[in-house]
Amino acid sequence: MNLILFGPPAAGKGTQARRLVETRRMVQLSTGDMLRAAIASGSELGQQVSGIMQRGGLVSDEIVIALIEERLPEAEAAGGAIFDGFPRTLAQAQALDIMLERRGSRIDLVIRLKVDDEALMQRVAGRYAESGRPDDNPDSFKVRLGAYNDQTAPLLPYYENQRKLLEVDGMGSIDAVAAAIDEALDEPRW
Ligand code: AMP
Repeated sequence: MNLILFGPPAAGKGTQARRLVETRRMVQLSTGDMLRAAIASGSELGQQVSGIMQRGGLVSDEIVIALIEERLPEAEAAGGAIFDGFPRTLAQAQALDIMLERRGSRIDLVIRLKVDDEALMQRVAGRYAESGRPDDNPDSFKVRLGAYNDQTAPLLPYYENQRKLLEVDGMGSIDAVAAAIDEALDEPRW
């Protein structure tokens, strides 16, 4: 099955995706991780995206769609993908649907992790102090949150219309959120 973990930055998508990789042997497709790896490798792509990422803006649709397309065969071979941080725009969501359809596949479920803005700000302040991830600084994080609200949150009706959207309270502990996700995935309809 193919799952999208949906939600604002610092909602816990990466943490939950990594857990599902362990427990369900699915493949995590995180465009943020792929872009950070490109920056760390010093590649041309990395140089192209590092400024915009540091400021908290969105990288072009073309770039992230190509990154995802490259990894679809691997996810398919594993029996399913967890899309983490992708799609973030309507163009990305539509491209994903088309790419999967061409492969005789589809998105089965979109889990939205709901966390309020104040909790996100607190989490990210802690994360910034711990890891020093450059785009977790307060100014960049505000831009990331703005990008989520303006460009990504509008995808919710897109998936709601497809009857694929399920909301999970993301404010609880990691284990509580994990349990809620497991419950959703273990429902007989998947
Ligand atoms: P993330 O690790 O998912 O929070 O992503 C970190 C940063 O990578 C974002 O703030 C964007 O600059 C960039 N990025 C990751 N995924 C996407 C995407 N699907 N579309 C555009 N930019 C992205």
